Amino acid sequence: MKLENMYQEIILDHYKHPHGKGLAEQFDSEVHHVNPTCGDEITLRVSRGEDGKLSVSYDSMGCSISQASASIMFDQINDHDFETGEAAVDHLVAMLQRSVEADEDILGDGIALAGVAQYPARVKCALLAWMAWKDAAIQAGAESQLEPGISTDSNKEQS
Ligand code: ZN
Repeated sequence: MKLENMYQEIILDHYKHPHGKGLAEQFDSEVHHVNPTCGDEITLRVSRGEDGKLSVSYDSMGCSISQASASIMFDQINDHDFETGEAAVDHLVAMLQRSVEADEDILGDGIALAGVAQYPARVKCALLAWMAWKDAAIQAGAESQLEPGISTDSNKEQS
């Protein structure tokens, strides 16, 4: 099987059987992101654990790439700390800009999205869930958790 076909299989499988879809009742922050050029939408919630790990839940609709990407995002980022999640988001962005080779250790099935880089209009589809996660994680105060004195409340005042 060609690599490209194998990647399509992976994307289709996540699209048909999304991992982690469904919103959690408990959360510290919620965001709603839309990709107007394609019509993709995601609502994503992040909850911060005592250990600094962030649990993710989401509900989404849209094209196969956006849906598969959300499922892959859940696999790679759920129950990890902010640093790990942010590194995965940064790597995905770089991969879609073709400035790095896809690293399966960082992206897991996300390497199957590498082909999307050929279609600039679809890059936003692939990034939607990951950008939503980053936004929600920052709003939940995850970015500043290592800096005592910056509480979630003060972050809210700034925004
Ligand atoms: Zn889309």
